[in-house]
Amino acid sequence: KHPFIEYGLRTQESKKQMKEAENHLPGGVTANIKYFAPYPVVMEKGKGAWIKDVDGHWYVDYLMGYGSLALGHGDETVKEAIFQQLKKDGTLLFGTPHRLELEFAMKIQDYFPSIEKVRYTNSGTEATQLAIRLAQVFTGKKRIAKCEGHYHGGYKEMLYSINPSLEEAGEEAAPYPVPESAGVEVDGQEPVILPFNHIEGMEKLLNKYKDQLAAVVIEPVQAGFIPADQEYMNRLRQLTQKYNVVLIYDEVKTGFRSSLGGAQNVYQIEPDLTTLGKVIGGGFPFGVVGGKSEIMDLTSPIRGADVFEAGSKGKGTARDILFHSGTYNGHPTILAAGLATMNKLDQQFDQILRYTDELRNGIEGIGKRVGLPLKTCGIGSIFNVIWNEETNLRHYRDLQKTNTKLRRELDFELMRAGVYTKPLNRYSISAAHGEDELTFTLKAYEKACRNLKG
Ligand code: PLP
Repeated sequence: KHPFIEYGLRTQESKKQMKEAENHLPGGVTANIKYFAPYPVVMEKGKGAWIKDVDGHWYVDYLMGYGSLALGHGDETVKEAIFQQLKKDGTLLFGTPHRLELEFAMKIQDYFPSIEKVRYTNSGTEATQLAIRLAQVFTGKKRIAKCEGHYHGGYKEMLYSINPSLEEAGEEAAPYPVPESAGVEVDGQEPVILPFNHIEGMEKLLNKYKDQLAAVVIEPVQAGFIPADQEYMNRLRQLTQKYNVVLIYDEVKTGFRSSLGGAQNVYQIEPDLTTLGKVIGGGFPFGVVGGKSEIMDLTSPIRGADVFEAGSKGKGTARDILFHSGTYNGHPTILAAGLATMNKLDQQFDQILRYTDELRNGIEGIGKRVGLPLKTCGIGSIFNVIWNEETNLRHYRDLQKTNTKLRRELDFELMRAGVYTKPLNRYSISAAHGEDELTFTLKAYEKACRNLKG
């Protein structure tokens, strides 16, 4: 049977629940990325490396909460840290400064030497938004540059050229800014789109827009699995410094995944600002902006004046400070979960890298044996499976040339065989993936590939 037909037969309850959800949630989902055709699988339980759907099938999970769950589902150490925090503090929320805020900041600084000060947010999206505002105030400039194919969160200013069709995307060296959502326009305020891993193109555009650019925001490893060339990153650092443009590494995906110290540790380059999310929230909504004190301190309410307190000797006005706030910023439960995650991950990261290596080698070996052009691409604990042996994957346009139709069919075959990642999504490995899961996954791969081959 064709994998999609089999999918329909095997996921009747998911189908029913998604149909019902459509009456209450647009498209039946709470985030557009959760959807895939013909309808997504509805899950009801997670345990370690495994996830179970509402029709009763268990899968080895490689989505791992879009890479957030570095220790797997329901890790006992993280759960215990949450219980202990609640027991010790007695509350879910202080709304005041508390000790964990400081401890967490120091922990982040241990892993990221470029980070001198941090602020907490409630998502990766909010973190990149704050980083951009900081850069604009710091430089007194407005425009932002981002790379083609890179994602920095779901908001108007950055929803350009994430997944454009090649017909719309223009020249490789100077990509056209393609809106990725209704309500997003090319109106002269849109970001400048840089070609990833194309040094001359990037140099030309930075030179052209240097007087307008507040920041370059980049995923040092595109989508977590296409690494930048070292030379591209070196040059980007040099030019942003020269042109007074803030260099923001968006390490929401790569933090604690490309390496424990993120991609910046791999490249040995210090950006001005870094954004983090996913893993460091231990499975909860969370984000961090960190970097140079001289930029981060723009948010400091003790900078110049306390304008909010009657009788203060304020030296300035509200407009001298970059206002950043949030009821839930520095949430104690989340910080406890995140700290426990970082502490445990520190001990388990090598094992995760070994698993990733063995799985990647195994998949490529099966591709060769069965006669399917499967290649893996990635760094650290994230990789993706590409359907095209020939492509040396270096940027978004290369990715567009791979065979996503067959890769999607493979994903459905894998679901049938008990391995889950959202179709076309990358693989995120956790500490809960062990020998049993490796053996199971490779067997499933063999089966799925043979079915596809016919
Ligand atoms: N930046 C990058 C590189 C991401 O991968 C993501 C999410 O996938 C975000 C920002 C947005 O983070 P969040 O989904 O927590 O808002």
